[in-house]
Amino acid sequence: DARVVVIGAGIVGCSLADELTARGWRDVTVLEQGPLPAPGGSTSHAPGLVFATSPSRTLTRFAARTIEKFTALESDGAPCFSAVGGLEVATTEERWADLHRKARLAASWGVRGTLLTPEECARHWPMLDTALLYGGWYTPDDGIARAVPACRAQLARATARGARFLDRHTVTGIEQAAGRVTGVVTDRGTFPADHVVTAAGFWGPVIGAMAGVTVPLLPLAHQYATTAPLPGLAAPGGPRDGAVRPLLRFQDRDLYFREHGDRLGIGSYAHRPMPVDPRTLPAYDDAPVMPSSLPFTADDFAPSWRDATDLLPALGASRIADGFNGVFSFTPDGMPLLGEASGLRGFWLAEAVWVTHSAGAARAVAELMTDGHAGLDLHACDPDRFEGAQRSPAYAAARGTRAFIEVYDVVHPLQPPAHPRPLRVSPFHDRQRELGAYFLESGGWERPHWYEANAPLADGLALPARDAWAARHWSPVIAAEARATRERVGLYDLTPLRRLAVEGPGALAFLQYLTTNQLDRPPGTVTYTLLLDAHGGIRSDLTVTRLTEDRFRIGANSGADLAWLRRHAPDGVRVRDLTPGTCGIGVWGPLARDLVQPLTGDDFSHRGFGRFRARRTHLGPVPVLAQRVSYAGELGWELYTTADLGRCLWDTLWEAGRGLGAVAAGRGALDGLRLEKGFRAWGHDMTTECDPYEAGLGFAVRPAKGDFLGRAALAGREAAVRRRLVCLTLDDPAAAVLGGEPVYAGGEAVGYVASAAHGPTVGRCVAHAWLPAAHAAPGTAVRIGYFGDLLAATVAEEPLVAPEGARPRR
Ligand code: FAD
Repeated sequence: DARVVVIGAGIVGCSLADELTARGWRDVTVLEQGPLPAPGGSTSHAPGLVFATSPSRTLTRFAARTIEKFTALESDGAPCFSAVGGLEVATTEERWADLHRKARLAASWGVRGTLLTPEECARHWPMLDTALLYGGWYTPDDGIARAVPACRAQLARATARGARFLDRHTVTGIEQAAGRVTGVVTDRGTFPADHVVTAAGFWGPVIGAMAGVTVPLLPLAHQYATTAPLPGLAAPGGPRDGAVRPLLRFQDRDLYFREHGDRLGIGSYAHRPMPVDPRTLPAYDDAPVMPSSLPFTADDFAPSWRDATDLLPALGASRIADGFNGVFSFTPDGMPLLGEASGLRGFWLAEAVWVTHSAGAARAVAELMTDGHAGLDLHACDPDRFEGAQRSPAYAAARGTRAFIEVYDVVHPLQPPAHPRPLRVSPFHDRQRELGAYFLESGGWERPHWYEANAPLADGLALPARDAWAARHWSPVIAAEARATRERVGLYDLTPLRRLAVEGPGALAFLQYLTTNQLDRPPGTVTYTLLLDAHGGIRSDLTVTRLTEDRFRIGANSGADLAWLRRHAPDGVRVRDLTPGTCGIGVWGPLARDLVQPLTGDDFSHRGFGRFRARRTHLGPVPVLAQRVSYAGELGWELYTTADLGRCLWDTLWEAGRGLGAVAAGRGALDGLRLEKGFRAWGHDMTTECDPYEAGLGFAVRPAKGDFLGRAALAGREAAVRRRLVCLTLDDPAAAVLGGEPVYAGGEAVGYVASAAHGPTVGRCVAHAWLPAAHAAPGTAVRIGYFGDLLAATVAEEPLVAPEGARPRR
């Protein structure tokens, strides 16, 4: 049996012990510094509000799991979840529109909810000042998790299956040997372990430091107050600490409310961010209340009290009776940290998890540990999504603070974080700024979305105006750059994409085993291939360039790919990250050859340099690795060089493109181009939740090549596809969607939009959507829910625009 030590017996540690033992892992020890069952972490005082809907499908499904599990879990003869419902109210036009959008998201992810008039809101909460309201959104299945009883119940269940919970054991060290964790040191002895999970809540960075693993989260205090008894509240017949009315959220003022019998609990995110250094907190026995409960700072709460009284005027007759500043975790992007740390085998993170998501997150980590595969897409929770500078305490502090401030804001899906920027810049950055680049951020990189210098090209397009939401971080210039790429040639900054080197004897066999396509091809070839997990789910897609017999270049998606390759690499195979020291430009469009050929003595004709071929050459003075592949689906090359020569590469290509009408083009244009060609976007269109056949990527799977990871799981799946990623075009050329919207067939939400962009050739919005096979046939009419509208769309034959290979060759 694997020996597991879990650090921390909050809601996450208890849930994890339950999930691991339920999967047959019995040798589970949970070490907790405080006394059980309320040891003094964030869980010990969490008011337990569960609002399921989130822009993240994964978080929404984590919450659904918590609701389902805690409803069935009993402690003291009562269920650990009470479905009192949730009500979010809107007091601004923007919020009201956002509630419409949220209602659509909820439909996409399978959460029930209804938009209400102010009067209907008042039926749930008679105290509301309806004059302030535009309306509300009611979600009947949301409610209150009884966090400490849920800990107790899961603790009891895990104990009955063989787990041990040892309280008053303070972890002081993590032992390791040869890159693997071997044990956990406490003030009361050492515990040998094959797997160690830190579920230490906001103490996570302290535990991480013991293991040499950075845990990028920021502990922040958050204010929670309770009123004196309010006559209007007393829950008829309810328990004193219970609630009968729905949870109430007043996000325009960063507030939430729940009943505690005849008192009202009020949580506020409106106050100044209050970072906490966990190393300075007292131990349980020395803390006035609990280590995670700091004294209430009434001045900070005063504006929130006024706002609360505006919304619920009856509060004016009451007062704050009690309050505290409770500490919990914020990560740079607001998502949890779940998975094995890349630097230390057997050291797992289950950090920055809300009570709301605890059961789902714990299940996912337990699945990963016992089975190597979680049922849900975890890429946005992967600890390896952060790297280098993003792991620094300074970055975690800046972004964590931002995540706190924005927690209830209306945040556009493309909105880049404001600070600290710029963090990573390509060697082309100055040139891009000179061209008026509008930068968004990707993996810490400044990435142009379009260039204002191209604005004159948009003048002639006469595109219909977008609605205000879809027009954010968008410009008609995007369409102009995409057009220019289809008609002439565009230069695309590829630097933010991940570049890896895999080298050494055995490199081919290693990559053959890890990926789906046939890579045993001559040096100088490029192959599109997939990384699967053992269950056949798509972890990532790669382009693999064979440079020599045992040296490969890989175009990958994320730090998680790097970690995955390193984790599996046998002795003798080296996996290196080339990204920071190199850069790249995509030169794509029908005139790409005219641009590049004069710069080199090498033959760039179709015959001399075919599709999916690669070679080293010089463009002017710059040594490059040239690969004839294109995510835009046009003739062209990806051209890579070292960072020091990047500026020279840009200038060389820019000069060569002058007479050809070449444009610098941004990521916005590329999204439209790739959607028209049917190319999938990792993380949006494909994740571990789908297999290659469902995603329309069966062409990249070669079961006949021999065994590879995931092959056995794919057997028989091609013929059994029940849902598909399809291409939709919106019927109205003026309509736009952004991703995450529900797709309706016959009035029922049957799927959702995975990604979308303006298609420059078809002159309308193009989307990839997940739909049941029954609704996936080309020509099928569907509707997409977008705010208050239902937009007509049609399933289209793919690709909308013929791929480069299907065009006449010059
Ligand atoms: P914790 O409960 O903090 O557990 C970690 C445990 O690790 C602690 O018990 C600690 O003692 C132990 N530990 C740490 N270091 C060591 C060590 N060296 N050795 C041994 N043990 C160690 N979430 C919601 O979903 N809904 C809400 O309404 C909500 N409201 C909140 C209100 C407030 C005021 C606060 C502060 C938080 C709220 N949260 C809410 C967030 C939620 O409480 C936390 O995200 C969640 O409880 C974290 O659970 P955890 O198990 O990860 O951490």
